[in-house]
Amino acid sequence: MRAEVIAIGDELTSGQRLDTNSRWLSTELGLLGIPVVFHTTAADTLEAGIEAFRIATGRADVVVATGGLGPTADDLTRDVLAAVGNTTLELSADALVAVEARFAKRSVAMPESNRRQALFPRGSRIIPNPDGTAPGIDMDVVAAAGHRSRVFALPGVPSEMKTMWEATVQPALLRLRPDAATIVHRRIKCFGAGESAIEALLPDLIRRDREPLVGITAHEATITLRITARAADTAACAAVIAPTETVIRQCLGDLVYGVEDDEVEDAVIRLLHDRGLSLATCEIGTTGRVAELLAEAQRREAAKRPTDAGSARGFVGGLVLGDSAAPATAADLAARARGEFGTAVGVGITAPRTNAEGRMLLDFAVVTAGGAESVEHVCGGGAALARSRAAKAAIDLVRRGGTARLGGEAASR
Ligand code: AMP
Ligand code: MG
Repeated sequence: MRAEVIAIGDELTSGQRLDTNSRWLSTELGLLGIPVVFHTTAADTLEAGIEAFRIATGRADVVVATGGLGPTADDLTRDVLAAVGNTTLELSADALVAVEARFAKRSVAMPESNRRQALFPRGSRIIPNPDGTAPGIDMDVVAAAGHRSRVFALPGVPSEMKTMWEATVQPALLRLRPDAATIVHRRIKCFGAGESAIEALLPDLIRRDREPLVGITAHEATITLRITARAADTAACAAVIAPTETVIRQCLGDLVYGVEDDEVEDAVIRLLHDRGLSLATCEIGTTGRVAELLAEAQRREAAKRPTDAGSARGFVGGLVLGDSAAPATAADLAARARGEFGTAVGVGITAPRTNAEGRMLLDFAVVTAGGAESVEHVCGGGAALARSRAAKAAIDLVRRGGTARLGGEAASR
């Protein structure tokens, strides 16, 4: 079974608005084990809509569309579907009652144009919309070559689309799947080596035909390994995932810093809280990016540890200096942060400089009671990306070496 996602709207094809619905729906379809093989975006015209749906229903088994179900003259999805299904629109008394009820609830008279939202292609099913006036359409279409496909048309408003997906479309698709199964993903997060270096460390795990499947993606120097298991239930999925996760952790060692939504700064803040330690930063040329990342992670961690409120654990504060302070070394800056805030750990990062070969370099350092360690970092990517990556790498230096670097103080919990 393969799927196509169609996004409808002039605001999308003209570039005024980003199509986030297709991204969300494709992720959801993937979670059900239904691969999405095409995305199509169509303008608000009858011709474009008909062409898009004719092609999609000819090549996909499931077509999920969003947009064009409103009451106005440019909302043509219902007319498009009637044309593609070689049928006519008929008024659904049930849908009309539902649309009228939405207006009655707000004590507003229903505009005549909203009657259109109760029109459905003959033979189609209504997808109720608990949050808005536009019901969705669920319809079987037999394409020209005899190929059968199931079409779900949902409103463009992202919140309504998501509610209707969860309440009606997802359960319908689960019933359609012959090999009904549960899909569970596990994301292992790594930092400190590139995508291909990480792949090379793993014994043939990243193969398309592997069970469970392991995928690899990179974002701002963070590498994510995504294990996908398909089994009878979540417990069976967990049992399928565990041995693969163990192999990954054994092969990658301390390149693995966390799981799921963890960022490397979350791992560092967690480590500091676990060990009862505080950290401060001093930065030049990074616009305070290290402090920003740590402060955000600190807030996320604080929400999980209400008992640490008001304690001097984790990220305490940071200095952001102008370029005139540039001659200082990274270790000087780290020591300054540590002194200024009275913390166990200081992190310093210097302004980028260009070396003889034209490469951009910067230094960062971590200072603790046990000493200082400095790293010369080679920047890659554009200025903003380079700044982000360097900030992450500086933070990662706190984590690597863990207990040894942080002076081996006893864990406080
Ligand atoms: P419609 O159902 O076409 O009237 O769309 C209603 C609202 O949802 C509009 O504000 C659109 O900009 C928004 N919208 C429609 N399609 C999408 C999409 N694919 N991604 C994100 N927003 C959308
Ligand atoms: Mg629209």
